[in-house]
Amino acid sequence: MRLTLDPRLFQSAAPAVDEEGRHRPVGYWQETVPVAPGAPLAERLRCDVAIVGAGFTGLSTAYHLKKYKPDLDVVVLEAGVAGHGASGRNGGFVMPLIGWDLLYTVQKLGEEAAGAAYRLMYRAVAHVKRVVADHGIDCDLEATGYLLLNTCEARERRARRELEAAHRLGFDHEWLEGAALAEHIRSDCFRSGVFDPHPCVVNPAKLVRGMKALVESLGVRVYERTPLLELEGGKPVCLRTESGEVRARQALLALNGYGGALGFMPSRVLPVHTYIVLTEPLRAEQLDAVGWGKRRTSLESARNFIHYFRLTADNRILFGGEDATMYYGGRYYDRDEKVFRALKDRFHEYFPALRGVRFTHEWGGVLGVSLDMFPTFGQQDNIFHAGAYSGHGVALSNYAGAILAPRMLRAAGVTDAEEPEPENPFFYGRRPAWLGADPVRYLGVQAYRYLLRAQDRLQGA
Ligand SMILES: Cc1cc2nc3c(=O)[nH]c(=O)nc-3n(C[C@H](O)[C@H](O)[C@H](O)COP(=O)(O)OP(=O)(O)OC[C@H]3O[C@@H](n4cnc5c(N)ncnc54)[C@H](O)[C@@H]3O)c2cc1C
Repeated sequence: MRLTLDPRLFQSAAPAVDEEGRHRPVGYWQETVPVAPGAPLAERLRCDVAIVGAGFTGLSTAYHLKKYKPDLDVVVLEAGVAGHGASGRNGGFVMPLIGWDLLYTVQKLGEEAAGAAYRLMYRAVAHVKRVVADHGIDCDLEATGYLLLNTCEARERRARRELEAAHRLGFDHEWLEGAALAEHIRSDCFRSGVFDPHPCVVNPAKLVRGMKALVESLGVRVYERTPLLELEGGKPVCLRTESGEVRARQALLALNGYGGALGFMPSRVLPVHTYIVLTEPLRAEQLDAVGWGKRRTSLESARNFIHYFRLTADNRILFGGEDATMYYGGRYYDRDEKVFRALKDRFHEYFPALRGVRFTHEWGGVLGVSLDMFPTFGQQDNIFHAGAYSGHGVALSNYAGAILAPRMLRAAGVTDAEEPEPENPFFYGRRPAWLGADPVRYLGVQAYRYLLRAQDRLQGA
């Protein structure tokens, strides 16, 4: 394998660090964590494992490798600062969703395999709670549960079928409508919903910075401001940066939506963007007006283009979704004014009682999406990869190391490690569908997006 970075794709996105070397936060979460960017790699070094990307995937894998084999020499190369990508910008929903939804996953994999996939995702949710508790990571974790809301009849019918499938598989999801629904949220737009008590929410920037500190305390070297410019497969794998070089027995590409910029699976894992707007902190009577005061439930609307909304620790409403798009050539952006306007309009439609509320922050980021919305984990010789979480990767990317580390240690012939039997998820070794190069890839995405939006409109969702 040989990869080369195309830096032009980053021209429209803000760098993580300004010219004086100070951190430049993107979005609200990153403002809540002070960051002193680390020094770039400025030497040639050798190590056992080189990880590219310090988001949840990269840091989770570093954590698990050190947990199972404490003397392993692990190095992380990060282009910006740890958590500059999706891991430090997302909605913070830690949830078990995989694929489009449970019904879709059952249809694609069959009921038994879908059940296994969702059970793995619940282990991932539990894992996040456990790591946060075991290591005392301060990330405002709140066990809010998660309520998927139906805004139209067609979605309600699908939700009922999905609930039946969930019960057959032994999951304790609950149907809510009328007064029971109003205990969680009040809006004329929501007819009913399905409640899952297990998901939680976090401040993702605090979690990812907490994970960085944790792996550093275990001896992992994290080089920030160090974009990988070139990778050359072989034994060892050679990774070149602007002022350094790493030779590693194994490498992990933990890049999710950024892989395409290095030429890694650009036609299979698409760099799709999603955006968020955030209000000022709300007073108790404002939250009561929409029924959100007591339960603090995290919510999503059931549509092709979902809306996700939740409260922050200081009672702001985070409201995201509405659209999701890829830009021509696979370019990266942090902002899209059209989507911000549409999000605010939708917020007012859902919550007319909150008309005077001020929005203080707007931001977005890139995630890796495959055509069928399933992730891809795998390896080519001694180079491993994980990504394509398709918009719901917080739980699974934090669990990625539990899946990857045992396999990496076995592949390296490490026999004295304390690792458990590796998980064997259906997406290990799975290559997502090939979608061509631009302009075909771009036009295909736009056509698909148009169809999905049209279906949402026709259904009145
Ligand atoms: C706005 C938004 C909202 C979201 N909301 C949710 C949600 O609520 N719940 C949920 O489950 N999922 C959500 N997601 C998705 C979730 O955030 C991701 O699936 C997850 O964070 C992926 O983590 P990662 O470590 O694989 O990738 P990333 O966090 O993107 O990490 C990749 C890292 O690689 C670095 N990098 C890129 N190029 C190079 C290079 N050449 N050399 C070195 N480093 C490089 C980047 O700077 C970045 O830090 C959201 C995503 C976005 C963008």
